[in-house]
Amino acid sequence: MRECTRFYSFAQWGFMKQTLVDIGVNLTDKQFSGDREAVVERAVEAGVTTMILTGTNCQESIEVAELAEQFAPYCYATAGIHPHDAKNATDEQYITIKELLAFPQVVAAGEMGLDFNRDFSPRPVQEQVFEQQLELAVNSGLPAFCHERDASERFAEIIKEFRDDLSGAVVHCFTADKKALYRYLDLDLHIGITGWVCDERRGTHLHPLLKNIPADRLMIETDAPWLLPRSMSPKPKKRRNEPAFLPWIVKTIAEQTGKTEALIAEETSLTAKRFFNLDQGE
Ligand SMILES: [Zn+2]
Repeated sequence: MRECTRFYSFAQWGFMKQTLVDIGVNLTDKQFSGDREAVVERAVEAGVTTMILTGTNCQESIEVAELAEQFAPYCYATAGIHPHDAKNATDEQYITIKELLAFPQVVAAGEMGLDFNRDFSPRPVQEQVFEQQLELAVNSGLPAFCHERDASERFAEIIKEFRDDLSGAVVHCFTADKKALYRYLDLDLHIGITGWVCDERRGTHLHPLLKNIPADRLMIETDAPWLLPRSMSPKPKKRRNEPAFLPWIVKTIAEQTGKTEALIAEETSLTAKRFFNLDQGE
């Protein structure tokens, strides 16, 4: 562990004074059950001093709220029901989510949205559960943390109905095409970019699009433990992704936009802190 910390230490990167915000970390995942604290420690050492922990169902949302409290001031949480879990949503769960949204460390409603790629829940159910959570987001005043796969048109239609009353919304792990990107930017949504952009097999279509995302709409995330950046060298022995690896995403975005890593770090951090309304004390 220690060796690994040294290897990916903050000093490796050129933007030592700039800290990063990882807007999507699945810290409740069982892949982290043995060393959660070390994972957070390594992230902080790598300069990733703010992590938003994703809640993807009711139970997990409770857990991430607890973890965010445990790992304050580095971690915050979201509370919501992922479209995969939409089929299991109950009225009681909405009440719990609503209560969680009032906790100070819970900074967004979600993960919520539509996934017509895997269709783990029937589409009409996904849509209904998405709408109910958008309503919770509106009522809480918190932004929405959204998931969308192969459902861009319906997603945009639904969110449009709520947009005027929503403080903000981010489409996390954006992997779609230019048309979808502009559809979202037209609705004044934020865009979350993951290590998908570091994937030479399936992420290169995103490269020319990166320039089209305004700095005040672009945020970055590892989606750890998933999506280990394929550009990483050397690769960690475990194929598990960690928030400490966020700088690899910064590197790719910098290369593709012609900006410096320091500037990408600064811009994405500022955008995330504004979006999630985090303390601007730094
Ligand atoms: Zn997602």
